[in-house]
Amino acid sequence: MPWSIHHLSEPLGIMSRRAPCPPPQAIFLDRDGTLIEHVHYLRDPAQVVLLPGVREAISRAREAAVKLFLFTNQSGVGRGLFSLAEVEACNARLIELLDLGPQPFDAVCIATETPDDPPRYRKPSPRFILEMLELHKIPPEAAWMLGDSPADWEAGLNAGIRSAAIVPDPLTPKEPDRRKQLGVDAFTSVLDWFLHAFSM
Ligand SMILES: [Mg+2]
Repeated sequence: MPWSIHHLSEPLGIMSRRAPCPPPQAIFLDRDGTLIEHVHYLRDPAQVVLLPGVREAISRAREAAVKLFLFTNQSGVGRGLFSLAEVEACNARLIELLDLGPQPFDAVCIATETPDDPPRYRKPSPRFILEMLELHKIPPEAAWMLGDSPADWEAGLNAGIRSAAIVPDPLTPKEPDRRKQLGVDAFTSVLDWFLHAFSM
């Protein structure tokens, strides 16, 4: 069998890796702690800082014609701590820092409800993901949700797509036990995940 002969020469580390298949056609991206540094209840565009590798990953994904969706929970709006306009200003700063054109995302979902509100789009609700898969005719097995929190991973899994954890600081991973429980692999950056997902 050709695959077994091929793999005999592979180092153990590569053999043990689970190769995602098929190649990603859509990526749902959490914002805070995934694309930009996490700031508690971020409302000031001046505090938006891109995480390492994000620009390159987004650029490569666009070159590969992958659909990109920004999917962020912003309960601070629902709590009255800041306005939707302030969230949008931070998103605009993110897009400015990416410097990849006026709108690198195919759609943006800002879920403003609090955990106490009736769930609509707030992660772990899969609603936004399901709507986008349907709209863009994307098979679930070719879509990924990337994020740093259990709500991100659960939203992806609830939608029947794949999830990956972005763990920018491996020394203080967010809820590692929950991640392992869900069977979600961890990557140090969106670029780290991208290089793995497209290395087949
Ligand atoms: Mg996050």
